[in-house]
Amino acid sequence: MTWLVRGARLLGSEPADLLLRDGRIDEIGPGLAEKNASVLVADGLIALPGLVDLHTHLREPGREDAETVETGTQAAALGGYTAVHAMANTEPVADTAGVVEQVWRLGREAGHADVRPVGAVTAGLDGDRLAELGAMADSAARVRVFSDDGRCVSDALLMRRALEYVKAFDGVIAQHAQEPRLTDGAQMNEGELAGRLGLRGWPSVAEEAVVARDILLAAHVESHVHICHVSTRGAVEIVRLAKRRGLPVTAEVTPHHLLLTEDLAATYDPRYKVNPPLRMADDVGALRAGLADGTIDVVATDHAPHPVEDKDCEWDAAAFGMLGLETALSVVQATMVETGLLSWSDVADRLSAAPARIGRCNSGDAAQGRPLAAGEPANLVLLDPTVRRVLDARELASLSRNTPFEGMTLPGRVVATFLRGRPTVLDGKLA
Ligand SMILES: [Zn+2]
Repeated sequence: MTWLVRGARLLGSEPADLLLRDGRIDEIGPGLAEKNASVLVADGLIALPGLVDLHTHLREPGREDAETVETGTQAAALGGYTAVHAMANTEPVADTAGVVEQVWRLGREAGHADVRPVGAVTAGLDGDRLAELGAMADSAARVRVFSDDGRCVSDALLMRRALEYVKAFDGVIAQHAQEPRLTDGAQMNEGELAGRLGLRGWPSVAEEAVVARDILLAAHVESHVHICHVSTRGAVEIVRLAKRRGLPVTAEVTPHHLLLTEDLAATYDPRYKVNPPLRMADDVGALRAGLADGTIDVVATDHAPHPVEDKDCEWDAAAFGMLGLETALSVVQATMVETGLLSWSDVADRLSAAPARIGRCNSGDAAQGRPLAAGEPANLVLLDPTVRRVLDARELASLSRNTPFEGMTLPGRVVATFLRGRPTVLDGKLA
């Protein structure tokens, strides 16, 4: 399969043609010709390397009423993603070689994006004993990222053991930083608004205490800790200080934490209920600044589909989580590019190169997050940055509808996505 992409602006720069052949970028330059190629006219479109999500909940196995590998990776492709890391809090939990291989195979069969299973750190996510980390690493899925996401590995000794264990195969522990004793029953950001709404508060320190502890543990055993969904100014400052000292930490922020604030909780609409909670405008400013200066390495979606019945209820009873895959690039354009904080080249780093590096999937046959250059795998997304769209949840490919961006006007639209030279999305629709 050969494709000639005409006139795309690589990383937002001058237009060029790309010839995609046998899964690779064969040639880049002006005025390319190839008579047997399918042609995609990309005038005015920006080309970025295929996006890589470090934090996706695909819900399969076990909650196929919320999402499946098929629908979740369709949503990913439509969002410009060519790879997603699938979190382990499925039913059963992805804590054995058998389950991670099942998820990995389902991803291969679906073919919309590479699925990289994340393995659980503790068996059953119970926080008591380590899961079969080595067996998952050695499995066909070749797991390198481990996380109990949804829950915190709160036991310091277990966290230390996990960090030590994964060093042998260059793995990483992705921590959902939430001190459980400080967040028992918590419903939204702690503060004046929570008091007024009568919802139990979730203090910033519950996140920051774990971030600080785990950076110190990782440094102590010389292993790599990755902090999931940083949401507070204090957590950004701790990571910044740690990086200045050269400590082995990376961090991610979600699109919703870059845009939305706790004020939305005043609607009591559970679509705004998320873990960690939406914070204050001051935190949002710190997260944007942290992403701009590289303190925060990655934008990760924390795409968390829930069926209607788990969200269409009272705030206290509703599930935590928001959709993200089909809106992430638009939210990043709105919050980071149109504010002048990031260039498109920076976006390629934060949404493709950096997550692929942290996910250990930027080399080998199925390499992701590689530069747009001749000889590299033909993983790319073409987007039209000039479009404005009003988000309608009914148009999403995800099985679920719990987007916090419903009715909002967002910039940008993914026109095409290529996975190893094969279009997964064309003209904004699944190919
Ligand atoms: Zn989480």
